[in-house]
Amino acid sequence: AEIDAPQLVNHVIDRFEMTTKNQEIQFKRRIPEQEITVQGDRDKLMQLMDNIVSNAVKYSPEGGTINVSLKQEQERLVVSVKDEGVGIPKENIPHVFDRFYRVDKARSRNLGGTGLGLAIAKEIAMAHGGNIWVSSEWGKGTTFSFSLPYAQEVVTQ
Ligand code: ATP
Ligand code: MG
Repeated sequence: AEIDAPQLVNHVIDRFEMTTKNQEIQFKRRIPEQEITVQGDRDKLMQLMDNIVSNAVKYSPEGGTINVSLKQEQERLVVSVKDEGVGIPKENIPHVFDRFYRVDKARSRNLGGTGLGLAIAKEIAMAHGGNIWVSSEWGKGTTFSFSLPYAQEVVTQ
């Protein structure tokens, strides 16, 4: 199906905004207002966004800000979710998309989770012809980004 990416991204943030009020987490959005369509499975793309944002919330300190942007590149759009959380140590970064991988088991156990969220997110991004990557600085914060190709215009004659 054709999916309006800004609308989908806004929808996921709206839901988290409603449930994080008492953690005082602030979302800031830089999302274009026009329609930008991608081709894909709406539920799966929602889950992709959900998995990334739920991590940003989970690993953010109280009062933290989460910046979400949607940028239009030549051939693809890029959604970035930037948090001010604990960050990921450099040596762990290559593993975060592995199934069941969790950084710092002791810390993560308290926060709950199975270590599948990012593996699933990656699977969905790749299945849609996109990609997913992370940049993080231990103690400063983390940015997860994913890309998706624009919906192809079908020319009929
Ligand atoms: P699940 O998503 O299955 O509930 P999870 O959040 O632990 O569990 P993933 O979403 O796959 O699993 O993330 C893997 C690990 O990567 C996490 O356990 C955490 O250590 C680290 N991580 C993911 N996102 C962030 C983030 N935004 N900031 C810091 N660490 C993160
Ligand atoms: Mg997760």
